[in-house]
Amino acid sequence: SAPLSIVRGAGEAAERGVLMRTGEAFQALRRVNRVVFDKTGTLTEGRPALRTIVAMACPEQELLALAAAIEAFSEHPLARAVVEETFKRGIALSEVEGFEAVPGHGVRARLGEAKLVVGSPAFLVAEAVDLSVQDERITELEGQGLTVIGVARDGVLLGLLALGDALRPDAADTVRRLHALGIRTSLITGDNEQAALHFARAAGIEEVHARVLPAGKATMIRQLQEGARVAMVGDGINDAPALMQADVGIAFGSGADIAIESADVVILNQRLGAVLETYAVSRNSYRKIV
Ligand code: ADP
Ligand code: MG
Repeated sequence: SAPLSIVRGAGEAAERGVLMRTGEAFQALRRVNRVVFDKTGTLTEGRPALRTIVAMACPEQELLALAAAIEAFSEHPLARAVVEETFKRGIALSEVEGFEAVPGHGVRARLGEAKLVVGSPAFLVAEAVDLSVQDERITELEGQGLTVIGVARDGVLLGLLALGDALRPDAADTVRRLHALGIRTSLITGDNEQAALHFARAAGIEEVHARVLPAGKATMIRQLQEGARVAMVGDGINDAPALMQADVGIAFGSGADIAIESADVVILNQRLGAVLETYAVSRNSYRKIV
């Protein structure tokens, strides 16, 4: 009977490190013909490392101390990388107050009377920070597939931090096997176009949507659903609405709580290929049903 087949499939999925949170997830997954991947922490390992520091209006040491003081409050993988590097160098953190995260953009806090902002170039521009002197440098760093974040104090750019992440080792293989099954692929990210293209090319993903704001991810999924049955794979706070909107939301168990709660399927190991294997299991359990 149908319920028995679904239970059997769930057991097979569990053996592969995949938790199916609902029976409906199986039904929806076997009909999926487009998989949309988030970039940071999903297609990539989500452990970016600091690669380049451009200190402008203060010493490198102070730039890191300020950035890490704010980022210590953030759950973002970029934030962790900044804090780790600062600890590695034995730099003491400044004490900040009034931390605020702006998902998909960056973070804000106060240091005494001063207002600190750390985030994407677009975010700093929106916060009235002039980045024009570093335009070429930013383009050059992003062209290397790096994510550039700026650090500003009271509207003045103090410097840039460029971070690099690694593609998950099974990303290209997973994408190639999805394509062989006739499933199309997309990359959706809040990051810059150059970094998005860099990782899409490396993984073989067909289509790229970059600089997408958190709310925009769900809207983008809705648009893709006009012509397809869409699975979204994500890990971050900002992926939650898109995971809910997709026909099947797939989250990494290492991701943000809200992402896991918004997903139908949770990958408990660190293997992207688990998505594909669970798809195969869902196809097989369907055959058992009919
Ligand atoms: P992704 O879609 O790749 O997971 P996000 O939407 O989380 O990326 O973030 C998009 C961009 O916003 C980042 O590339 C970064 O420039 C900026 N950003 C977000 N959170 C932070 C943070 N805590 N510190 C610095 N920059 C951030
Ligand atoms: Mg992410």
